[in-house]
Amino acid sequence: MAEVVAIRQALKYIVERQLRQAKIISYSRSAPMSLASVHERRVIINEIKDNIREYLGDIWIRAFGQLIWIRAHRGFEGNERADQLAKMASTKDHVDFSFCPFRIQIKNVARKEILEAWQQRFSGSSDASRTYSLLSKADYKRIYGDFFLNQVFMGHGVFPCYQACLFGKDPQCPCRSADGSIFHVFFECQKLTHLRQSWPRNWQGKELKDLLKIEFF
Ligand SMILES: [Zn+2]
Repeated sequence: MAEVVAIRQALKYIVERQLRQAKIISYSRSAPMSLASVHERRVIINEIKDNIREYLGDIWIRAFGQLIWIRAHRGFEGNERADQLAKMASTKDHVDFSFCPFRIQIKNVARKEILEAWQQRFSGSSDASRTYSLLSKADYKRIYGDFFLNQVFMGHGVFPCYQACLFGKDPQCPCRSADGSIFHVFFECQKLTHLRQSWPRNWQGKELKDLLKIEFF
């Protein structure tokens, strides 16, 4: 962007003084390429392009120089002066130019803010405490669409505890030894011991949170 602003300033200088011959020399490859692009959408680039076009449409059409790209530091006249000025500019306390952010920057900032607000609401909420205990990090990437898994993650569904809470049904597990909580079903219920025994050895002793990370589980 610094290159682009420099080109804009140079162009202003040329236009104001109606210079008969001028070359704007840029070290940046991308700035002249953006100026040559047909599909450019950035306002500042299009502004420069319009200025060049208008100037070319003027009586100075043949006098206007070219926009050239050169490799850095090849001893062009003005090169060292430009370097000096650049160094001086970098020591300034104040900023001369500021840009409105690009669309992609605005998007990224918005995504980040949404994620932070989401995380804050998620962490502070008592509603989502079950889900939070299993997945504490808000994340755009993670989407579960599994009928059974979702019941575990949300604590909603067929578990007797939830059915009792919402529909006044019997909270007891069919094994009659405890309430049918998610923990009971996965780790305690004797009716399901045979399933638990078939778990691979490295699943034994793991918490539900960690087991849920295993796809096969
Ligand atoms: Zn049971």
